[in-house]
Amino acid sequence: MVVQTIVDDLQKRPGFGDVIPVIDPVSEQQIAEFTDGGAKAVDEAVARARETFESGVWQGKPGSERAKVLWRVADLIDDHAADLAELDSFNTGMPTDQAQAIMGTAAEMFRYYAGWCTKLNGIAHDIQMTGGVAQLFSNAHGYTLREPYGVVGLIFPWNGPVFNWAAKLAPALAAGCSCVVKPAEETPLSAVLLHQILERAGVPDGVANLVQGYGHTAGKALSEHPDVDKIAFTGSTEVGKQIVRAASGNLKRVTLELGGKSPVLIYDDADIDTAVLMASMGIFIHSGQGCICGSRIFVQRGVYDRVVEGISGIANGMQLGGPKEEGSHIGPLISEKQLNRVMGFIDEGRKDGVEIVTGGHRLDRTGYFVHPTVVADVDPAMNLFQREIFGPVVAVMPFDDDDEVIALANNSDYGLAATAWTNDVGRAHNLAKRLQAGTVTLNCQMVYDHSMPFGGYKQSGWGHEFGRNGIETYLQTKTVYTKI
Ligand code: NAD
Repeated sequence: MVVQTIVDDLQKRPGFGDVIPVIDPVSEQQIAEFTDGGAKAVDEAVARARETFESGVWQGKPGSERAKVLWRVADLIDDHAADLAELDSFNTGMPTDQAQAIMGTAAEMFRYYAGWCTKLNGIAHDIQMTGGVAQLFSNAHGYTLREPYGVVGLIFPWNGPVFNWAAKLAPALAAGCSCVVKPAEETPLSAVLLHQILERAGVPDGVANLVQGYGHTAGKALSEHPDVDKIAFTGSTEVGKQIVRAASGNLKRVTLELGGKSPVLIYDDADIDTAVLMASMGIFIHSGQGCICGSRIFVQRGVYDRVVEGISGIANGMQLGGPKEEGSHIGPLISEKQLNRVMGFIDEGRKDGVEIVTGGHRLDRTGYFVHPTVVADVDPAMNLFQREIFGPVVAVMPFDDDDEVIALANNSDYGLAATAWTNDVGRAHNLAKRLQAGTVTLNCQMVYDHSMPFGGYKQSGWGHEFGRNGIETYLQTKTVYTKI
């Protein structure tokens, strides 16, 4: 029911470019269409956002008032959790129970950042000036103000539409920014309902503006726009670099949450059964379409065969299917383009002589399903080792000691996340120091908490989301001196 209403609303939204079809990755059929907003919709949205920012209708509100609105957003997300989960699973093909679990996280993100609205304080300092004319003001007082950047563009991918939306909107609104929001063109549906929720919660008109469209039209126009003060982007490293170039026109600030090729280290002293289960979930869940998926697994030689057998067994036992198919553990890839990309990496590896331990093929059915795939005998120079695949494909390699595995794990342009499984506490913490990654998980995996910062090392990102760092992303510092 909600799906049809949202599909109709989406179609009615004014646009200024091509008609974009929305394809169901399970049936491969078109389920909706909308008109690309393009540069014109971006211009209009930026103008509205600028007007609201300058008028102070949102940023000028006391923090406690903004907090109440954000708390209402959270409550409304909870009220509509089933609808939002239905929209995201319908649009991405992910199992509905997994989509549902994400909705609670999105609501909590708003509650967490509602709390920050009243804590955006700077520092204060008394200063004794000496020397030169400054002596005229021998006693001064200095303080800093934390101020919202202004108009921010929020661009994000399709892999978790509601979650990605909340991860950007909640801190940006808490900071007092006015926003222009561009979801991925593959997944435009849930954002329509989310922006209705913002309106009902009392976010003033024009403060959070939704623009739907392609990346090379609407996304590009937003990143180039001279009246946008900051872009917060989640997506591929390749597009992240394009955004940095586009942002240079007015030197707008940029925060980037980008791709990964995360290593998982399994030592022979670890709880092997748990490590095998979690490492398998850590790559196959959501068909590997997660930025922190552990796509390179390094196993100490003594337990190598056992771990490869365990992960392959789990891969073979996974049931693939659409959200309406009973018992599905994982859904399809998002699009035919993504399917071809993933199969391209597998076929290239096959030609290069890697061993396909299990999987390596698309399912013989309708839909963009790829069998969970384990590959071995992968050389670190190969694309299967170096490139982000964003599919259910994992390379498994043996190692002997710490130095060898650290060199392998850090042999990557990416540095988003890393995991180590070992019962040697000293070794675990040494590994945490030596692994080049923005997030390290020890004897656990796929752990995330919105109160802890999240960001990438190397080409996995600039800056952070979540936690205090997440709101700092949307604030700039002003220093004030006053004579006393
Ligand atoms: P993508 O980079 O192709 O697209 C992401 C967004 O950018 C979309 O909204 C798209 O329309 C827009 N876009 C595309 N070209 C643009 C341009 N020239 N200018 C401005 N915007 C443009 O990424 P994707 O394929 O949709 O998503 C998968 C990628 O996202 C993976 O690399 C994954 O690792 C990454 N990701 C990272 C995180 C993180 O937190 N680090 C989280 C989720 C996904």
